[in-house]
Amino acid sequence: MLATKGYAVQNSKSKLVPWNFERREPGAKDVQIEILYCGVCHSDIHQVRDEWGGAIYPMVPGHEIIGRVKKIGDKVKKFKVGDLAGVGCMVDSCRECDNCKKGLEQHCKKKTVFSYNSYEMDGVTPTYGGYSNRIVTDEDFVIHISEKLPIEKTAPLLCAGITTYSPLRHWNVGKGHKVGVLGLGGLGHMAVKFANAFGAEVTMLSTSAKKEADAKKLGAHNFVLTTEREQIKKVKNYFDFIIDTVSAPHDYNMYLNMIDTNGIIICVGVPPEPIKFNGFGIIGNRRSIAGSSIGGIPETQEVLDFCAEHGIASEVEVIPIDYINEAYERMLKSDVKYRFVIDMATL
Ligand code: NAP
Ligand code: ZN
Ligand code: ZN
Repeated sequence: MLATKGYAVQNSKSKLVPWNFERREPGAKDVQIEILYCGVCHSDIHQVRDEWGGAIYPMVPGHEIIGRVKKIGDKVKKFKVGDLAGVGCMVDSCRECDNCKKGLEQHCKKKTVFSYNSYEMDGVTPTYGGYSNRIVTDEDFVIHISEKLPIEKTAPLLCAGITTYSPLRHWNVGKGHKVGVLGLGGLGHMAVKFANAFGAEVTMLSTSAKKEADAKKLGAHNFVLTTEREQIKKVKNYFDFIIDTVSAPHDYNMYLNMIDTNGIIICVGVPPEPIKFNGFGIIGNRRSIAGSSIGGIPETQEVLDFCAEHGIASEVEVIPIDYINEAYERMLKSDVKYRFVIDMATL
């Protein structure tokens, strides 16, 4: 077994503290990655605090992982020692069902193994995430990372990037569309960049007045402060799409009223409480509420390649790992610019 250092919580009330554990030695198809950076996703907070239920402790969070390949198994074909490599939200799935065959491993009909807070296909071995110094993953779930972009700014593409890229691609969002991005955090700032890159008119819908200048720098054409009634009136029946990245309970009815005929609110944010909305909000204008979960492995590779080609990366605040509990508190206050990324050399 491989001695591994990480940060973990022991229960839903505890803080993240150093914790040593073991990972498997790389098997024939495994890649051992020495982690350089790991992004901090709001899903880490939801899971550490068991806000979605079913938490498995001790929990080592982290699913925006980039590092260098240290060792490979005999049958590994895609990677060699020294390569940059990434691991996102998933580390395994059945690989045989319709969805796995279509590259939609996040919707595997048997079981998706997530990078942490999950069990391996054997149903008993817990998985541990990227707030740690190394990870061992089957090469089929490891992503090639280009050397072109700064690594710390690339790590968030493995969750925040793919989670916003995938629905925008699925619904062919682009030229001629009016897109609202709800919430300017880790996912939101990537959604602004992608929607702008795909040619849409982008409006930032935010509760934070002080983020207006940044939203515009990131690629938003308009900014609406959603706490101001007069500003909301201007976007009544306005958008073809809203991509909702909000992590906390919020008023879906207010945002439905901003959707034009046949438009869609795409939920990627997953607040801890069930979504409530008025039926008239969807029958009027024939609106839809839809959802989207991360993205499959082929599309995750696609977004990494797209970003390397177009020079798109995340805006990050690099932190030492012992700052992680404070970083969580700041994210809960919407005080993030726009993704915290842990420098694993500080572990
Ligand atoms: P984040 O960086 O903390 O950003 C969330 C943003 O939402 C905040 O910065 C804030 O932006 C806004 N917000 C917060 N509370 C709000 C409220 N009460 N009302 C309105 N807006 C509020 O979070 P993240 O990492 O981007 O994650 C966002 C959500 O997506 C989380 O629920 C996470 O679990 C989920 N997620 C889903 C997937 C998926 O596969 N679907 C993948 C990753 C993450 P403003 O200051 O601009 O208002
Ligand atoms: Zn995430
Ligand atoms: Zn499957």
